[in-house]
Amino acid sequence: MIAIGLCLAIIAGGLFTIFLRCAELGNRGGKIILLPIGDFDGRVLDALENDLEKTFNFKVERREAIKVPAETFSRVRGQYSSSQILNKLRGSVALEKQDKMLGITDVDLYTEGLNFVFGEAELGGQMAIISLARLHQSFYSLPENKTLFLERAKKEAVHELGHVFGLAHCPDPECVMHFSNSLLDTDRKSASFCPRCRELWEP
Ligand code: ZN
Ligand code: ZN
Repeated sequence: MIAIGLCLAIIAGGLFTIFLRCAELGNRGGKIILLPIGDFDGRVLDALENDLEKTFNFKVERREAIKVPAETFSRVRGQYSSSQILNKLRGSVALEKQDKMLGITDVDLYTEGLNFVFGEAELGGQMAIISLARLHQSFYSLPENKTLFLERAKKEAVHELGHVFGLAHCPDPECVMHFSNSLLDTDRKSASFCPRCRELWEP
């Protein structure tokens, strides 16, 4: 009897969560804002706009490109600080409470303690940034591969936005939320959430 009671409570809880989720998505009108940082080929933005809308079921809006903040450049490292760029954006980009923002740049990014980062995100917050620099085959002196580049960009964008939506790293190497230590990890994983992450994202 107790077991039946518990099951019902869980099912009822699940239904309530689903209703709440639908109501939230329907009422709050949140959107994902794509912000180009720096000057690069915009075709990747066209692809991401389409992909992210499908993946997250959020409206995607593109903003005018801004310059890469010069003061976030480290002369010693020859890279830009992702944390400092995010700090600048927090102080300068107006967002509605329910909106999420993804900054996209083609400059190489670093954060303290790491040689480079593909991106950085506020876990459960509003902002993330990705770098396209190391997603090009040409970065490794290999012939450019546009399809591979766009696929990598999608994975990094979904991964960082997944963090913004509250998802942590996932142990499944094929899940988009798996941590990419190198481009090999990025190429091995899919652009989709594993069933567990999908459940967390779509309870
Ligand atoms: Zn991550
Ligand atoms: Zn996962």
